[in-house]
Amino acid sequence: MNALSMHQGKIVMFPNNDPKTKKSFKRNKGISRQLLLRLLEGNDSCGLEQIIPFPAEKIDVAEWVRLKCQFGCCQYNSNWCCPPASPDLEKASAVIREYSLALLLIGSRRCRDFYLSNARRRAEQVRSWKEVVGIERKLFLEGYDKAISLVSGACALCKKCTYPERCRFPRERRPPIEAFSIDLIGTLENLGISTQVAQETIDTFRYYAIILLE
Ligand code: SF4
Repeated sequence: MNALSMHQGKIVMFPNNDPKTKKSFKRNKGISRQLLLRLLEGNDSCGLEQIIPFPAEKIDVAEWVRLKCQFGCCQYNSNWCCPPASPDLEKASAVIREYSLALLLIGSRRCRDFYLSNARRRAEQVRSWKEVVGIERKLFLEGYDKAISLVSGACALCKKCTYPERCRFPRERRPPIEAFSIDLIGTLENLGISTQVAQETIDTFRYYAIILLE
């Protein structure tokens, strides 16, 4: 069995039955199954399980998402990738409208101390983040010049973000999905994907990232 056929079962082509999005798929070049398989190759050691192309208009944005960032998250006003430094709802919606196709990346990590150790969680977060940004770079080299990642969780590249002083890695940082006012659960529901909040420290950590593609 070759490497490509090993990954065949991990590719899900999201059915595009919406006449409006069919139009935009026709206008754009889309993404081939072959390329998706190549992107998965070599990345599964970091926990990446699926890459699902879908119409960008399935992305749900909502005001309440930013409210949750503002009230209840320690990253608010402390991280260059999070509100208020990230685009507001109006700006984020305008950016998303410029795309017809996006990729949903789903991965998981199961390690005993994931929910108990900040250092462990940060290490895993950075690994999955690098994986997603690496895929974005491959897509750019394939000619998808608009490709940009929305990652899982606030930027953790530095142990403590330098905000509001100059960012240490401005070329590497990417905003988390929520910092773009995206309702992740609502978006997953739009795609017919169900997910669960982890209840126990032994539960598998499931992460999601979105690459706005073209
Ligand atoms: S790279 Fe460092 S300084 Fe820049 S946003 Fe991320 S954590 Fe903050």
